[in-house]
Order: sequence, then C-alpha cells, then structure tokens
Amino acid sequence: MTVDYVVVGQGICGTFLSWNLLKQGKTVLVIDESKPFTSSKIASGVINPVTGRRIVRTWKIEDILPFAESAYQQLETELNTSLIRHCNVVDFHSTLQMRDAFEERIAEGETYLKHHDESNWKPYLNFIYGVGEVDPTLLIDLNILLSKWRKKLCEQNCLLDEQFDNSVLHVFPDHVTYQHITASKIIFCDGVNSYNNPYFSLLPFAPNKGEALIVDIPGLPRTNILKQGISIVPWQDDLFWVGSSFQWAFNDDKPSEGFRIKTEQSLRFWLRLPYKVVDHLAAVRPATIERRPFVGLHPQQNSVGIFNGMGTKGCSLAPYFAHEFADHLVNGKSLTPEVDVQRFRRILSQLPQ
Ligand SMILES: Cc1cc2nc3c(=O)[nH]c(=O)nc-3n(C[C@H](O)[C@H](O)[C@H](O)COP(=O)(O)OP(=O)(O)OC[C@H]3O[C@@H](n4cnc5c(N)ncnc54)[C@H](O)[C@@H]3O)c2cc1C
Repeated sequence: MTVDYVVVGQGICGTFLSWNLLKQGKTVLVIDESKPFTSSKIASGVINPVTGRRIVRTWKIEDILPFAESAYQQLETELNTSLIRHCNVVDFHSTLQMRDAFEERIAEGETYLKHHDESNWKPYLNFIYGVGEVDPTLLIDLNILLSKWRKKLCEQNCLLDEQFDNSVLHVFPDHVTYQHITASKIIFCDGVNSYNNPYFSLLPFAPNKGEALIVDIPGLPRTNILKQGISIVPWQDDLFWVGSSFQWAFNDDKPSEGFRIKTEQSLRFWLRLPYKVVDHLAAVRPATIERRPFVGLHPQQNSVGIFNGMGTKGCSLAPYFAHEFADHLVNGKSLTPEVDVQRFRRILSQLPQ
C-alpha cells in the first residue's frame, strides 16, 4: 500500500491534519489505537477567548477563533452533524479582586467581556461577588467529531485501528516504510506518546494531567458554561462535565480520589441543587514548556513530522495550525515561527539518527 502521508493518532490533531490533507487532494492513512480516555476524548471542548486570573486575550485569538469556528462549521456540513454551539462563559467572581479585575478589563474596552444579569442564577447557585460574561465562547462536541471522522476514514479505507510500533518504522530521506505501507512522510499526532518518540523526545514537553467529574444536575440550565474556580460545562446525555485540575507532577494518568473529594466540596458549596456523580475521567494533556505547539518536519529527517503540543487549547489551535501545516507540506507555505519545530533545530540535531 502506498500513500502520501501516514498520520499517527486520531485525537483532535490527527483529525484536523488528516481532514486538511485529504482536502488538499492527498492520500492519507491514519493509524490510531482506539483508547477510551485520551486528552481529546475527555476534554470539555471549550474555546474561551480570554484566559488566566488577569483575564487576558489568549494568543492569536482574533485570527484563531473565527478560523476554528469556520472549520467546525465546514465539518458539520461534511459529516452531517452538529458540532459547535455558542455557549458563553458566565464567570462567577471568586473574590472582590477578581471582580475588580473583570470590571477593569471591561473599562479598558475588552470586547470579549460584558456584564451579565446575575439574578438568573440565584435559584441554582450560591455566589457573593457577582458575575460577568465572556462573549463569544464556543463549545465543541469533540466526541461526536472524533467518532464521525473516524467512521468517515474507515469508509474510505483510510484508518488502521492498531498500536503504531516505532521499532518497525524505516525512515529514508524521501520516504518511510511501515510494515506493508510506503509513504512520502509520516506525521506524529500521537499526543503524550510523542514524549517517547525517537525523533521528538528531546522537545521541551511539559505533560499536564487533568481530571473531570461527569455529573447529573437535574434542573440546572444548559445555556452557559459556569465558572468559579472549577467549570460546569454542558456535556452529552443531559449531563455536565465538572473540572478540571492542572497537575504538573503526577504518578499515573488515572482518576484520583483527591480530585473527586475536592471537586465535590466545591460543588456542594456552589450548587443549590442536588447532584449525582456518574463518572470520573482523567488524561494527560500534551503541553509544552513555552506553551506553544510543535508543528513541522524534523530538521534532519525530512520525511518525519510532528503536530502536537496543543496543551490546554487543542480545540482552537488544532484547526488553525492543521490548515497551516497541510499548506506547508503540500504547497511549501511557511509556518508561523512560534510553532515551527525548526526553532529546536539544535536540540533535534542531537538525536542519534
Ligand atoms: C481534563 C481536560 C480538559 C480539557 N479541556 C479542554 C477544552 O475545554 N478546550 C481545549 O481546547 N482543550 C482542552 N483540553 C486539551 C485538549 O484535550 C488537548 O489539547 C488535545 O486533546 C490534544 O489532542 P492531541 O490530538 O494532540 O492528543 P490526543 O487527544 O492524546 O490524541 C492522540 C491520539 O493518538 C493515539 N495514539 C497515541 N500513540 C499511539 C500509537 N503508538 N499507536 C496508535 N495510536 C496512538 C491515541 O490513542 C489518541 O487517539 C483538555 C484536556 C484535558 C485533559
């Protein structure tokens, strides 16, 4: 079997890269081992244009947000499904200082922030310091996207559901072989597994574990994402996703008792409604030390590439940079320097190839 590109991994990165390469008329084989708990499968799917305690705009959001929205809309049409909805964050200020910071940002003219009528939420939630709204916030149904795209790849004989084994990959200057497959290039979109990839393990990854509870909260409106330290996000089957943690040090990728206890404490304090925890999810985010993705071909081995390192923002960054990477691979367009792996040329040249 001969294809233009082998893509390893079908999380949000492999999904958007394979979609873009196919759109560019290339042949693609995606190799993905179906696992229930990956970063993409347990993510809440929020695209929030502001971030952090100081509520600053996220990097390049003016370009990335409209681009991502349009990409999800195209996929909605192509996959004949619904993937995206406007679901603004209602920010319940945890302290007076956070309320003041929010008000200051509005006064400075931050167009993504606005006032919000808190009386809507009084019957459901306990809060003291008022609320603000982040507009627009997008909510993506990643599980529908991943499963529908996988089905489409299967129908086109473009998907192998198995574990990729690096030890049987043979890399040559202008092609690669893997078992019976020959490809011009192989691109790794394998999330945290790239940390062990012989070509890219020296990149400055910073794996970050995140957990979430899946909770039934009968009667809570599903109109908004609610945020007060933790977030309550509308999830599938009329349930809510409640999270998350950001752990830089951890021993495993499993749900922890500590997270469940702490999150339930916060929920009991915040909610005025009864709730029931029905599931507990955990996965490791493929984050990077300098909080920028890794995109591009290996400086020494031109037939091997990487599309990874989306950290906490895969939903917004993957659509934008998958398009850019496909354009780079197929048409030779240049990559945004902040994401191009060529910035690690010296580190990557130390690999024993
Ligand atoms: C709790 C939590 C909440 C989050 N919430 C959000 C959010 O609201 N918004 C947002 O933008 N981001 C969020 N994120 C971050 C987001 O999930 C990640 O940025 C994104 O999912 C990374 O996607 P990926 O495709 O790089 O990796 P992954 O999702 O890990 O996908 C990698 C794929 O490769 C496959 N694979 C790996 N190795 C092999 C192999 N050897 N052989 C075959 N297949 C292989 C895996 O099975 C998997 O399918 C969240 C993450 C977590 C953990």
